[in-house]
Formats: sequence, C-alpha cells, structure tokens
Amino acid sequence: MKITLYSMFSRVTVLKRLLLGLIVGLLAARLIGGVAPPENMLVHLITGSLMGMGYAWLFGTQTPRGMADLLNGFPVAIGAWVLLGVNLYPLLTGSSPMWQANAIITALPTLIAYLLMGSLTGLGYGAICHWFGQRLGLLTAVVDPPPVQTHLVILGGGYAGVAAAETLEAEFAHDPTVGIWLVSSTNYLLHTPMLSEVAASAVNAQHISPPLRSAFRRVQVVQGSVERVDLTERIVYLAADAHSPQSQLPFHQLVVAVGAIPNFFGNQSIEANSFTFKSLDDAVRLRNHIIDRFERADHEADAAVRQALLTFVVAGGGFAGVELMGSLNDFTRGITASYPNLDPDEVRIVLVHSGETILPELSPTLGQYAQEKLAERGVEFMLKTRVTGAEAGCVLLGEKAIATHTFVWTAGNRPSPVLQQLGVPLTQRGQLEVNSYLVSPTIPYLWAAGDCAQVPDKHSRTGFAPPTAQHALREGKVIGHNIAATLRKRGLTEFDFKTLGSLSTLGHQLAVAEIFGYRFAGLLAWLMWRTIYLSKLPTLEKRVRVGLDWLLDLFFPPDIVQTIDFGRETKEDIYDKS
Ligand SMILES: Cc1cc2nc3c(=O)[nH]c(=O)nc-3n(C[C@H](O)[C@H](O)[C@H](O)COP(=O)(O)OP(=O)(O)OC[C@H]3O[C@@H](n4cnc5c(N)ncnc54)[C@H](O)[C@@H]3O)c2cc1C
Repeated sequence: MKITLYSMFSRVTVLKRLLLGLIVGLLAARLIGGVAPPENMLVHLITGSLMGMGYAWLFGTQTPRGMADLLNGFPVAIGAWVLLGVNLYPLLTGSSPMWQANAIITALPTLIAYLLMGSLTGLGYGAICHWFGQRLGLLTAVVDPPPVQTHLVILGGGYAGVAAAETLEAEFAHDPTVGIWLVSSTNYLLHTPMLSEVAASAVNAQHISPPLRSAFRRVQVVQGSVERVDLTERIVYLAADAHSPQSQLPFHQLVVAVGAIPNFFGNQSIEANSFTFKSLDDAVRLRNHIIDRFERADHEADAAVRQALLTFVVAGGGFAGVELMGSLNDFTRGITASYPNLDPDEVRIVLVHSGETILPELSPTLGQYAQEKLAERGVEFMLKTRVTGAEAGCVLLGEKAIATHTFVWTAGNRPSPVLQQLGVPLTQRGQLEVNSYLVSPTIPYLWAAGDCAQVPDKHSRTGFAPPTAQHALREGKVIGHNIAATLRKRGLTEFDFKTLGSLSTLGHQLAVAEIFGYRFAGLLAWLMWRTIYLSKLPTLEKRVRVGLDWLLDLFFPPDIVQTIDFGRETKEDIYDKS
C-alpha cells in the first residue's frame, strides 16, 4: 500500500502536524541550546517551537525523504533567523534590528545555531513520520480515490471562468466526488488592464499573464478550443489539436465564460487590414510591428513613405483605445532617440472616435481632460468621425484617407461566436441570457458570466452588467456559490454588485479616474491606477515582476528588441501600400 502525507487532510491532521512540529522543534532547541549561542535557553525554546511549527506548515505534507528533510530545515532556519534573530528579538530587548554589516557579522554564530536547529527539526520530523506517522494519524493511506460522480465544466479561463473555478474548488475542497474542469484556449489568465503596457514595451508580456495551472490544486485545466456543446447529451466537444487530445468532456453543470471578440460590424476591409487589441498575441504583435515600422522608416529616403510608416491610427475612444493611444504615444516618441535618421516630429498618432468626447464611460469633464492632455502630448483626435474601410497602407474615413501601416481597431466587441454552437436562443447582442442567479432561465444546469452573458444589473443604466473585469470576476464567484448551493439543495444568491469605479491611464504619469463618484485626474489618478491594477494582478510573483518592470522603466529607455520577424518586404511593397 502506498503511504503518503498528502491526501484530503482534515483540520485535525493539520493540528497534529503542527503539534509534532512544535515538539520536535523544542527538542532540537534543547539539544542545540546546550552547545550554541545565545545562552538564553528560553529564547532557544521559543525559536525552536516556532521553527518546528513553521517546518510542519511548509513541509509537513511531504513524504519523509531523509536527506531532503534535513535540507528542508535550512530555508526555515534562515527565515527564522532573519525574522526572529535579526529583527524581532533585538526589538523586544530594546535594541535596534541588526541590519548593519558589523551587527550582522556578530549575529552569524546564531545563524549557525538556527541552521543546526532547522536541520535537526527536519530530520526529526521526517523520522517520526516515517516510523510512527500512520499510527499518529499524520500519514494517510492513499487508497483509490472515490470515483468522480459530479462533473463541473467551466468554459473560458478569463476573469469570470477563473473566479468560478476558484470558488468551486474552495466549495468542494473536501469532496473528491466532485470533479472540476476549466477549458481555455490560452493557458494563462490575461490581466487586460495592463495590455497597453505590453504593446508599449513597458511591461513584459508574461508578467501580466499568470498561468492557469498554478492557480489551482484540484481544478483540471484543459488547454483547448471549444467547438460545440451538446446541451441535451451534456457533452462539450473540443477542437482536436495537440493541446487537447481529450476531445469530449461530459458535464452535469456547465459554466460558459468565453468572453468577447472584436466586432467589425461586417466590414471585411477593416477586418482584413487592422490589428485587433484583445489578446496577449495582439499586444506582442503590435509592439513588434511598430518597432519593425521604425526600422524600415529609419532607412527610407522617400518622405511620404516614411510618414506612412510613422503614422499610427487607433479607432475607438473607449478605455481600450485611449489606454493604447496613451501608451503608444509615449512608446513611439520615446524610441525615436534610437533612430537618429528620424525626426520625432514625423511621428503621427491619430485617434478616430465616433462620439463627441473620448472615454464615454466616464464623466464628460474627465473625457475632456483626457483629450486636452493627450493633445498637448501630440495625439491628434478625429472626433465624430467613423472609419469606413481600410486597405493595405491606408485607413478610409468616408471621403478622406490616412496613409498608415498601423491601424488598430478597438471600436467594438461582440460575444464569442462559440455561443452560437450551444443551440439556445441568444439575445439581440448575441449574448447568453441568464437571470439574476446567473443561470439560464430555461436550462437549470447552464450558467454564464462575463462579457458573453447578459446579466441583469439593477445598478446599471442599461439594466445589464457592463463588460468589465470587476463585474466578470464577481459574477464568476456568484456562479461558484450557486452551483454549490444547487448541488446541496440550498437557496441561490442573487448577483448584486455596484461598480466601484473606472480608471484609465493616459500614458506617462497621467490618468483619469472616477471612484465612488469622486473624480481624479493627473498624477494622483495615475498612482491610483498603478496601485489598484497592480494589486488586482493575480499572484505575488507577477506583481513583483511588473513592479520591477516599472522600476527599470524609470531608468532605461523602452526596449526595441524585435522578437517577431515579419519577413522582408520589398521596397515596392512599401510603396504600393502607401
Ligand atoms: C485592452 C483592454 C483593456 C481593458 N481594461 C479594463 C479595465 O481597466 N478594467 C476593467 O474592469 N475591464 C477592462 N477590460 C475589460 C475586461 O478585460 C473584460 O470585461 C473581462 O476580461 C471579461 O472577462 P471574461 O471572463 O468574460 O472574458 P475574458 O477575460 O475575455 O476571458 C475569456 C476566456 O475564454 C477563453 N475562450 C474564448 N473562446 C474560447 C473557446 N472557443 N474555447 C476555449 N476557451 C475560449 C479565452 O481564452 C479566455 O480565457 C479591458 C479589456 C481590454 C481588451
């Protein structure tokens, strides 16, 4: 029979492990205290018990492994030394923390004592688990887990899908008969508010996209593309590809959170000749394309062709378009220093918007402010103007045209077309209709959230929840709780969330924000934007990485390394497109 420390452990098991850690730590402290500084045995005993519990907390679920147990004691010992020996104990005795080099040198002998104590704790803990673990109830015999009886399948690894999966994982943490699957075409969660920073080379692409797999312990992540869903047979069919050899997933409850895609309103010329700005691929491709245009412009003698290469047009004055515009403006003007043959005044950034003021989601005064500030920084606005078409090398605005090689379309979204494969009637906008419990009014095992769902919202002007991340993730949580309540035959919770606020960055140290009805603009709003969205970025690791990117950005110019080769266009190609 296979013995392991890791299983569906209960709170009692955790408490027993902590107790064992405490006892082993105390014994180790008693032993080491006799031969190593400091002289004070009480300090040793307190340290030992804390270290022992820390060890049990961190490594108590591992199978005893001899040498590895000893080595595991070292990081615990070093952590305890820094926390207790260098900081806490000196403070408790009225001295200052031992941060200076000479103080740390005097504390080194105690580090040796801590390391000895740590390794002894690890060895002792592992040995007791090895010989007595099963009798003490610390080890669990892993017999075949009970078969999964209830299949919960979530489609979409965005804010809504991940929030639903996290909530379901917590709800069924101790019930192995419930299996949870999360299907997503990408293997990461994209933190969209920072997408413009990727396009502008301010933040590394991986840093805003935590991997889905590391977010879960029990949820099975399947990278794959949903092709269709049979709601009668209750089976999800995935496109057969290398990522998803498992082509069918049966379900008892289905959550649909597949988000939205760009909407070109049937204009094929725009679709064929524009960049979209929704995914990580889009941002990386755009960044590379812009650098590529600069490389070409740098050795282009024809002024008209050079001007087209250095003209960047964004359609759409909503959050996505304006944030992108602000970041691109900084990026393109910032990198001209690396291209000595180019005149910074040749860079042209144009925002085309059909409304009178940009950022219609915010108060008109903030939209006006954003417009004025961006105009001061060189952005050109074409308001009350619609893009009517696009060709290679040119954007059409009715009678007028702008020669450009970079046209980004952010002027519309529509729900993912995969919804049409569900075989249920959709709303006029193509969304899946759900009631305030986020379940389909006609199919009790079909749930939907996020940009692909029409969610009733009494706080919104339209009567439906707006397509934002803050709504999507709260809807996902409500679905998680409601599925659990359905399976446990309890009452459902209504989705009831009032928008906290909206923020939009406009580029370097400039933003606008409206939070709880209060308006902010300028540097303060920009600091709020950074603080709020950094705190919302999942995982500490990614937050640290983005923080470091921002820090380095203060000292170094934008990175112009081109990581996608678009192939060698001939000179005629460039002329033809302008
Ligand atoms: C540039 C930009 C900036 C934004 N800034 C903000 C902001 O500052 N604040 C804010 O609140 N909101 C912002 N938003 C809006 C926000 O990103 C969306 O409202 C939110 O992502 C919606 O979440 P969701 O889970 O419904 O969809 P998404 O986050 O889009 O996730 C959809 C998921 O479904 C998966 N998927 C799609 N089709 C399939 C398929 N066929 N098979 C398998 N998987 C599939 C995708 O891979 C993805 O994982 C921004 C959006 C963009 C594009």
